[in-house]
Amino acid sequence: MTTFVDRVVLHLQAGDGGHGCVSIHREKFKPFGGPDGGNGGHGGSVSLVVDPQVHTLLDFHFRPHIKAENGRGGAGSNRDGANGSDLVLKVPNGTVVQTLDGTVLADLVGAGTTFEAARGGRGGRGNAALASARRKAPGFAELGEPGDRLDIVLELKSVADVGLVGFPSAGKSSLISVISAAKPKIADYPFTTLVPNLGVVRIDNHTFTVADVPGLIPGAASGRGLGLEFLRHIERCAVLVHVVDAATLEPGRDPVADIDAIESELAQYGGLEGRPRLIVLNKIDVPDGRDLAEIVRPDLEERGYRVFEISTVTREGLRELMFAMAELVEQARVLAPEPEPTRIVIRPTAVDDAGFTVEPAPDGAYVVRGPRPERWVRQTNFDNEEAVGYLADRLARLGVEEALAKAGAEPGSLVRIGEREFDWQPTLYAGAEYVPGVRGTDIRLQEKPTRASAAERLAARKARRQRPADEPATGSGDGIDEDDD
Ligand code: GDP
Ligand code: MG
Repeated sequence: MTTFVDRVVLHLQAGDGGHGCVSIHREKFKPFGGPDGGNGGHGGSVSLVVDPQVHTLLDFHFRPHIKAENGRGGAGSNRDGANGSDLVLKVPNGTVVQTLDGTVLADLVGAGTTFEAARGGRGGRGNAALASARRKAPGFAELGEPGDRLDIVLELKSVADVGLVGFPSAGKSSLISVISAAKPKIADYPFTTLVPNLGVVRIDNHTFTVADVPGLIPGAASGRGLGLEFLRHIERCAVLVHVVDAATLEPGRDPVADIDAIESELAQYGGLEGRPRLIVLNKIDVPDGRDLAEIVRPDLEERGYRVFEISTVTREGLRELMFAMAELVEQARVLAPEPEPTRIVIRPTAVDDAGFTVEPAPDGAYVVRGPRPERWVRQTNFDNEEAVGYLADRLARLGVEEALAKAGAEPGSLVRIGEREFDWQPTLYAGAEYVPGVRGTDIRLQEKPTRASAAERLAARKARRQRPADEPATGSGDGIDEDDD
C-alpha cells in the first residue's frame, strides 16, 4: 500500500566532552601537594522520544540542525566540569529512524519510547584521576572526546488526519496548496508525498495533515482505476471532506449528484459510516458557482452536513474551513486510544568494547581498529609528551604492540588509529624490553607497596617522617593502572 511519507534529514551533533585539567595542589610550606586537576564534564546527548501530542515532523523541516551542549572543562582543586545538558526531541508515534543509506536504527512505537541517536563525548580525566601509585603526578590530562556527529533520516509513515474526496478537478490539490503551511517552505526538503498529495496545515496551535485522495471516481470501490488503493487511505483518515466543484459545466453534474456518487463509492467500500464529514463548495469566485452554492446549501444542511463555501483563488472562506477541520481532528485525537506507554529506551547497537583488530591497508599502513584504542587516541593531547607516552603504554598493555608485530609491522611502519597516523617505534615500549611506563613518578617512591606486618608499617612510617619532602601518594595502590575503560 502506498503510504504518505513525511521524511526529514536531521544533522545531529552531540556535545563534546570537556577536557580534563592538569593542576598541582599548592599550599604554603607545601609547594607540591599532588595533582588536583578535575575531570571534564560529559557532552550532552541527543535523544528522540515519542510524544503522542506530536503528529508530524514539520518542526524538524524548519530546524534540521540539532546540537547538544558541550561538557565543561575540569579545573584545579579537583573541580569537575559540568556535564552538557542532553537534548530530547519529541517525535510522533511511529517514527522510523534510519541512516542516510536506509539502515533502520529504530522504529519508535509507544508513548515515551526513547532512542539515543547521538551520544555525547566523554569528559577527559584530569590529572588527579589519572594519578596512581606508579604515576603519582601526571603532567597531563585526557582530552574530552568529541560527541557523535551524524545525519539521520526520520520517516513517519503517516495517514492524513483529513482526507479530501471529490471528483477530478473539483479543486482538491488547489485547496491543499492554499491551506498547507508546509508546502512553500519545505520545497527544498525531500518531503515525500507518495502519490496522494499531502499537506501540513497549521492554524493557531493546531497542526494536522490533509491528503488529497485522487482517483475516487464512480466504480472505484469495485477496483476501477486506482480507486481501491486510495480508499484504503481514506479508511485511516479521521475526517472526510467532500470537495465539490460548484461551477462545473458538465451535463448531469451538480454538487448534490457529485456528493451522492462519491458517497455511494464510500458506502460500497464500507466501514466509513461513522467518519465525520464536511462539505466544501468550491469555486464561488465564479458567479455561477456562488449562485449554485447558495441553492444547494439548504439541501445539504438538511442532510446534517456542515457546508463551507470557498474559493481557492480568492481564498474566501478558507479560515473558517480550517478551524472546522482542526476541531474535528482534535475531537478524533481525544477519542483515539492512547498508545501503550512502553518507555523502552533503545540505544545504538552495543559494540564489543574490548576487542581490536590490526589490518594492513592498501597504502602499506597498519590500521588498528577498536573502540578503546580509537577512543584513547582521541583523548590524547599530542602536544604533551607525557600524554603520548601514556597512550603508548595503554596501547602496549592492551596488546596492540604485540599484534602489530605479529601483523608484520616493523620499526618505522605507518600505523593508523582512528584519525591519527604514527611512525611505529616499538623498541620504546614493546617487545621483551617493554616495561610498563612509569611516568610522572618520583623515582624514590617506586617501591611497590606490599602487605606489611604491623612492625614493618611502623618502621616505614618512622622512615617517612625523616623524608618530609616526599609528596603524598595518591591514586589506587598497586601500580597497575585500573583506568583502561
Ligand atoms: P483536483 O483534481 O480536485 O485536485 O483539482 P485541482 O486542484 O487540480 O483543480 C482543478 C482546476 O480547477 C484547476 O484548473 C484549478 O485552477 C481550478 N480551480 C481550483 N479551485 C478553484 C477556485 O476556487 N476557483 C476557480 N475559478 N478555479 C479553481
Ligand atoms: Mg489533484
